[in-house]
Amino acid sequence: MPESGESQPLGAWLPQEKPGLGFGPLADEVAFPRLNEAEIAEAAPFGERCSFAVNQTLFSAGDYPFNSHVIISGTVRIIDISTGSRVVFVRYGAGYFTGDIDLFTRRPSMVGCEAETPVEAIRLTPSQLREMFTRKPVLGEKFWKSFQYRRRLLLVSTFRGLTVYGRKGDKATLDTVELLFRNSVPHDWLDTSVEENRRKLEQMREDVQSYPVISHGNRVLFEAPTRSQLADYLHLRRNMPDQTYDVLILGAGPSGLGAAVYAASEGLSALVLDALGPGGQAGSTSRIENYAGFPDGVTGGDLAHLTYLQALKFGADFHVPSTVTSLEKRSNGLFRARTMERDYVVGRTVIVATGVSYALLDVEGLGDLQGVGVYYSATVLEARLCKSSATHVVGAGNSAGQAAMFLSQFAGEVSLLVRGNDLRKISSYLSGRVQANKRVKIRYRSEIVGVEGRDHILGVRIREPGGEIVSEPTAGLFVFIGAKPRTDFLPPSIVRNDKGFLLTGNEVAHLPEWKEPRPPCNVETSLPGVFAAGDCRSGTPKRVAFAIGDGAAAVTSVHNFLGRALGQHSIDDRE
Ligand SMILES: Cc1cc2nc3c(=O)[nH]c(=O)nc-3n(C[C@H](O)[C@H](O)[C@H](O)COP(=O)(O)OP(=O)(O)OC[C@H]3O[C@@H](n4cnc5c(N)ncnc54)[C@H](O)[C@@H]3O)c2cc1C
Repeated sequence: MPESGESQPLGAWLPQEKPGLGFGPLADEVAFPRLNEAEIAEAAPFGERCSFAVNQTLFSAGDYPFNSHVIISGTVRIIDISTGSRVVFVRYGAGYFTGDIDLFTRRPSMVGCEAETPVEAIRLTPSQLREMFTRKPVLGEKFWKSFQYRRRLLLVSTFRGLTVYGRKGDKATLDTVELLFRNSVPHDWLDTSVEENRRKLEQMREDVQSYPVISHGNRVLFEAPTRSQLADYLHLRRNMPDQTYDVLILGAGPSGLGAAVYAASEGLSALVLDALGPGGQAGSTSRIENYAGFPDGVTGGDLAHLTYLQALKFGADFHVPSTVTSLEKRSNGLFRARTMERDYVVGRTVIVATGVSYALLDVEGLGDLQGVGVYYSATVLEARLCKSSATHVVGAGNSAGQAAMFLSQFAGEVSLLVRGNDLRKISSYLSGRVQANKRVKIRYRSEIVGVEGRDHILGVRIREPGGEIVSEPTAGLFVFIGAKPRTDFLPPSIVRNDKGFLLTGNEVAHLPEWKEPRPPCNVETSLPGVFAAGDCRSGTPKRVAFAIGDGAAAVTSVHNFLGRALGQHSIDDRE
């Protein structure tokens, strides 16, 4: 339940000040560049002059909205209170500027800022910064990069952000951590099955009724919040905007993010809705090695986060968590998407980028253990739950191979259970590595037939090649056995194939449902104005790079559709 003081900003209670964090962020010239006089003069016309007296607050932790300030004279200090003590994170003066990436994510400020001496500054709102990015790209790049790098520094420092208290096997705690993780909200998770962590919590609250408990500094913010309560509190979601978007993008996996970047950068107003947060399946991947331009590989989380920031930079709007439950075409030709959270939003066109969900193993009791020992993704989040213990991975595709490789770095022995006789479905670069990895035991013609455990998985029962059933302890069962498109919520006028994947372009041109005198655009579905991209579209290779490109292709189709509707120039996407 939210606490009575919930409406107070995060920085409203300030404990005693402690010395700095022990490293000098100013040494990082990308995160903290110092503008020269010419650059300050270049920035000045975009904002307003302002001044602050000694100890006056420029902004507090928890303020929303907040602004960036270019310091012309005097010194400011940045204050962190998330550990429960007051810590001066950094002090800086003329030529430096305040702010971080949350100016663009539209979330509250993580830290506060006070004037150490009298301060003269230029105040820049997020929209003034955006204007500057467009008109002064070189200077704008300096600001943008610095905001991005400051967040990275914050994440590797002792900065704590929110603290989540809850047991390792508690599903509600895991769901909360997943929401924070997916949305890059800095947090620390303290497992309350550890005595020391329980004692820490008791110092703040003795009579905890339900978990997780979320605190900031010394203050408990929530006991067992719903996903919506937490999302609203963190400003992951605001009131659904009351405007008609050029394009509604359903899903923020690689295809939805790709669409958002291209739509926003080409001047379309775009709103992205996602049930959880940016990343999709890619966000649950520890390492993507076949994405062009990243020879050393990139984590799915990093790729998704950077693409998300890029889309924000160009002005795309995001509303998460927001699960779309229905889509309807109205008599005025506009589309209305309704969400499980009881919002609705209107757009001229729609890109469906809802991807796939991984198929569940049909084994009794397995559903109850989902999230508490049975997982459908393998990231650091799950890996830290399986440290040094035996784990089992089911599947014979790239996702299973990657999961086995990744988990082998943390877990004890990893069993890769393959129903068939080979790893032919895994890309050759990966299958070679899996076979050479001594910590991965490949068990062909083996299947899971049972699970053990009530609140958390304890063991698995495996049918071995000879038919005998063996029981083994496990810390985690990771399942990657094929996927089902998330297209159930769409109206019947959007035609799917027998497996539920959306038909588009030439596939719908000759269907009776296609009634337009023109041929459909490349990735247009049978409902004119609705487009599909990525894994949920029929016939697509299920790969990150393709999904991003498909999102971009869908934007070209949107342009064409809107161009025709408005009688404007369009781009030919049907060659
Ligand atoms: C473990 C794993 C490893 C992988 N490794 C690789 C790799 O190394 N290289 C590679 O190229 N590919 C890899 N893939 C495949 C790749 O991740 C996918 O092809 C890609 O993510 C597809 O992108 P997408 O945007 O189409 O769909 P998804 O990634 O599935 O994203 C769909 C998004 O839509 C949201 N959504 C669904 N329904 C709704 C709804 N009703 N309302 C609102 N939002 C909704 C979901 O929350 C999700 O965020 C891997 C996949 C997995 C699972």
